[in-house]
Amino acid sequence: QDLKLDQAMEIVNTIERHGHRAYIVGGSVRDKLIGREIGDIDIASSATPAEIMKIFTKVIPIGIEHGTVMVRHHGESYEVTTFRVEDNYRDYRHPDHVAFVKDVKMDLARRDFTMNAIALDQAGNLEDPFGGRSDIIKKEIKAVGSPMERFQEDPLRMMRAIRFVSQLGFTIESSTMDAMKAHIHLLKKIAVERVAIEFEKMFRGPYLDKALEISEAVNISEMLPVFDEQPSLLLKYKLSPLENFAELISYYTFQETDLSVKRWVREWKLSNKTANKAEALLNALQLYLKSGEIDAWLVYNLPETLYQSFARVTGLIYQMEAEEVYRRVSDLHNALPVKNRKEIDFDGKALTEIYPARQKGPWIGNLLNEVERAVVFRDLKNEYNEIKEWVVKWHPPV
Ligand code: ATP
Ligand code: MG
Repeated sequence: QDLKLDQAMEIVNTIERHGHRAYIVGGSVRDKLIGREIGDIDIASSATPAEIMKIFTKVIPIGIEHGTVMVRHHGESYEVTTFRVEDNYRDYRHPDHVAFVKDVKMDLARRDFTMNAIALDQAGNLEDPFGGRSDIIKKEIKAVGSPMERFQEDPLRMMRAIRFVSQLGFTIESSTMDAMKAHIHLLKKIAVERVAIEFEKMFRGPYLDKALEISEAVNISEMLPVFDEQPSLLLKYKLSPLENFAELISYYTFQETDLSVKRWVREWKLSNKTANKAEALLNALQLYLKSGEIDAWLVYNLPETLYQSFARVTGLIYQMEAEEVYRRVSDLHNALPVKNRKEIDFDGKALTEIYPARQKGPWIGNLLNEVERAVVFRDLKNEYNEIKEWVVKWHPPV
């Protein structure tokens, strides 16, 4: 914990030694004050990207125009950003203009919430011009400056406020909350990919129930793809922390038959990877529903990397312990006679030898599928001659 900050402080010290000002800022300072595990550490500095690149050898320019470079130090990455102010978010996406400034206080003023607007210097002192520390003690999320203006400037901050509620269990300060109620419609103007990042963090949070209460109070559903047409969806089912979008999609889509994975992915602009995971999870949920038990076939068809996800979603839907579901899945996995299709000692070519007169067609796939199932369930030994006999017995060539 403190070791992580100490390592980051070495970068701060180095920048200071070169005659610039530097601080640790943002989420890591907040989390240290809360006593929460620290994530990525961000550094803010009066040095320009060019100056930072002269000071350090391992630097990756990741957003020079916004003043950000990535410094590598002892195997860790740190974003070092030049003190800056932003004005006029006319398109609600990007500041029209970024200006570098010399004073850390001006940089802190552009940040979203008081708890995120605290800087830690090399001597361990806090720069806290907006009373962030006292809001952390009060467990309050409070906009820096005028909440109305700050949400108009960047409506994504409203979604961020809700995800912080979910992660920290804090409440939202009342004037900040009022501004959210008044401006929530502006969230529609934000690129959906940015909303998705915050939304995913929201439903991972341990205080999700609190976040959902606020979501309802500010009517956020109407601003979110898919939920906008089913505003009750967010509260209809008991939602508890899920790890990622694929899990969330399978959870909802399984229970609401008029939803589809395709629609989620299209409307939220999610990746193919997420789509594939969601489909695989949904498929497993449907197999479970059909057979009434978690069986070898389900486990055989579910990618191993999704076992934990399946356990979480199934646990949530059927109110079972996810741990128990996971144990059942991995026991079945360990007992599988084959782990995938390639291991099956039989194929389409073998079939055409048994039925030389038949034309190629879907029957091949269907029959191979039957074989596969029988092998997976151990009704049939995974051995070429045995499989051949079995096929001939059940489907005698005419
Ligand atoms: P996490 O621990 O989840 O990363 P974080 O507070 O570090 O939380 P980031 O998204 O990493 O959140 O942003 C880093 C910092 O940048 C924030 O603490 C805040 O000071 C500032 N920030 C981020 N997004 C915004 C925004 N939309 N408007 C204003 N300031 C922002
Ligand atoms: Mg962060």
